[in-house]
Amino acid sequence: MSTATPHLHTNERAGHRLPVSRGRLSVDERVRKRTREDHPRDTPVPGAPPIRIQGLHKSFGDHEVLKGIDLTIERGQVVCVIGPSGSGKSTLLRTVNLLEWPTQGKVFIEGIDITNPDVNLDKIRTRIGMVFQSFNLFPHMTVLRNVTIAQEKVLERSKAEAEQIARAMLERVGLSEKADAHPSQLSGGQQQRVAIARSLAMNPDMMMFDEPTSALDPELVGEVLDVMQRLATDGMTMMVVTHEMGFAREVGTHLVFMDDGQIVEEGDPREVIAHPQQPRTQLFLSKVL
Ligand code: ADP
Ligand code: MG
Repeated sequence: MSTATPHLHTNERAGHRLPVSRGRLSVDERVRKRTREDHPRDTPVPGAPPIRIQGLHKSFGDHEVLKGIDLTIERGQVVCVIGPSGSGKSTLLRTVNLLEWPTQGKVFIEGIDITNPDVNLDKIRTRIGMVFQSFNLFPHMTVLRNVTIAQEKVLERSKAEAEQIARAMLERVGLSEKADAHPSQLSGGQQQRVAIARSLAMNPDMMMFDEPTSALDPELVGEVLDVMQRLATDGMTMMVVTHEMGFAREVGTHLVFMDDGQIVEEGDPREVIAHPQQPRTQLFLSKVL
């Protein structure tokens, strides 16, 4: 798993059960064994886009939350997803990150059809970093330990290697001097930067952010957006659910406006923000700009 998400519940599909964290990072031994085995079906297809979503539907019981989403994200793109609360943005991200199973449609990660029941989802998930609104750091561990633990348990790196990588990633988010601190000693912005470092330490090929600055005091938003902007500049493929229109405009390479489980409008961020074509986009933007 790419991140520690202690609140996750079960992820199941026919004949295939995913390992999940319950209260603390737990990794199923059998999955680790499978993860070490290579199979062509689990190997990225050269040149394939990092993410291709085709005709994606997702229902919870009778409630259809995603109503046919088509979206392709090319390498190095920064796709920002905006839209009103409840429009399905988080569900879309969670489906791409394999935390939810589509009701209908397909999701390809680097050319691998993750709806194929035989693919090794755990292996694919290690290539997708995920940053949530809540940082989900372990409060009783140091910052350094928060960034090393999944490297050791999931990727089976040695302690020394994990620490070396953790320190490099903490430097990347500007927090080298906080390695020995505990999360409670950090501001929200610093904690979120640790969460980003933790994700980066897993060497993801792409990063998903779900409203990463929504829980922060306004004066702390900028430092997190700066880190994300640097990541984008370095060429990271990113999918970002955000209300930060400045970020979407300046850093985003593509903007997607969702409403009621559908993509209502998409395109060049500056173009969509300056000249929204659809009434629903116009209404939403008039409220957030
Ligand atoms: P957004 O992130 O755009 O605010 P979400 O994807 O979180 O929207 O939610 C879209 C809709 O799906 C909401 O009506 C929400 O209540 C519903 N929903 C999300 N997750 C679940 C779930 N696990 N079970 C039932 N309904 C859910
Ligand atoms: Mg959401």
